[in-house]
Amino acid sequence: MQPFVYNGLPSRVVFGQGTLSRLSEELELLGCSRALVLSTPQQQQQAQEVLQQLGDKGIDVYAKAAMHTPVDITEDALERVKSLDVDCTVAIGGGSTIGLGKAIALRTGLPQVVIPTTYAGSEMTPILGETRDGEKTTQRTLDVLPETVIYDVDLTLTLPAGMSGTSGINAIAHAVEALYARDGNPVIALMAEEGIAALGRSLPVIANDLTNIEARADALYGAWLCGACLGSVGMSLHHKLCHTLGGSFNLPHAETHTIVLPYAVAYNAPAAPDAMARISRALGCEDAATGLYDLGRSVGAPSALSELGFSVEDVERATEIATRNPYWNPRDVEANGIRRLLSDAQSGHRPK
Ligand code: NAD
Repeated sequence: MQPFVYNGLPSRVVFGQGTLSRLSEELELLGCSRALVLSTPQQQQQAQEVLQQLGDKGIDVYAKAAMHTPVDITEDALERVKSLDVDCTVAIGGGSTIGLGKAIALRTGLPQVVIPTTYAGSEMTPILGETRDGEKTTQRTLDVLPETVIYDVDLTLTLPAGMSGTSGINAIAHAVEALYARDGNPVIALMAEEGIAALGRSLPVIANDLTNIEARADALYGAWLCGACLGSVGMSLHHKLCHTLGGSFNLPHAETHTIVLPYAVAYNAPAAPDAMARISRALGCEDAATGLYDLGRSVGAPSALSELGFSVEDVERATEIATRNPYWNPRDVEANGIRRLLSDAQSGHRPK
């Protein structure tokens, strides 16, 4: 066995159905009694319900969270934090809302209780990406890791079919890259394989039956494991490509991850045979890249970047940006291969 380093991350996880009812208790455990509830405008109603549930521990709702954590929104929220003298945040929603809670924690040290309603996994990571004047910067610090995460399967039942599939495959992408990470370790590999398997078997069921509670529980469990992978080890080519496509071409987060993943895996396959064997075993398929491609089709996800407005002409600029400061990757990142990878993802044919 190779020597390894394992860093356990200090967050508390409460998992199950109906677990939202434990929110007040969890606040007490943190010694908090004045919560600001965060959400996107789309989930404001849900945030109001959480506020009601908190009784006198709920102070107000701030419902302006937005994709990629714009700093001007964080600054606006900080005004509210100060004027209301709150002592913690409760974020209910996906990566966008969780990002706002992290940005507030970074600047104030306020503890965070997070209630994730998508599969993106931000709640398990010490990573914060913020945008200022359209430019995104990412940092890794334990200061933004949420103290408590409440996974309530019931809250995922409203996640629409399209987003359930793409958000779930976004989660799988974290586990896939954890399997060939330079700083990977056997514990994270176990979590990654289990996470891919849980999502791989549940997402096609959810695509046909959004309220299947067993499948929803399986998917959320998988998303937790995959989020923990993202929080623990470094990501490689696939995440670099998705950051390029999101940051410079404004492509939507979860859909982009879903489309690119099979091609990034096909590119890395020759350099990461053990990871490929684990992915194939988790998905019950012969080949990791085609297995991931077929999973996308089984959940009705878009298959080509062209469907997101990414044109043949965009391939060259994306290749140039993605190869400029590459993340560490098991296979050398060279322009010809990346150009081919992006062309394949642009047209969306089944990877070879
Ligand atoms: P999101 O948070 O942007 O949510 C998308 C939309 O779905 C929002 O309108 C939201 O209100 C709505 N929604 C969420 N849950 C719902 C539910 N259960 N039912 C109905 N509607 C629901 O999407 P996301 O994919 O979760 O997060 C993407 C963002 O998170 C990106 O900005 C990405 O960069 C970030 N992210 C960060 C990390 C990290 O570790 N820092 C990890 C993953 C993602």
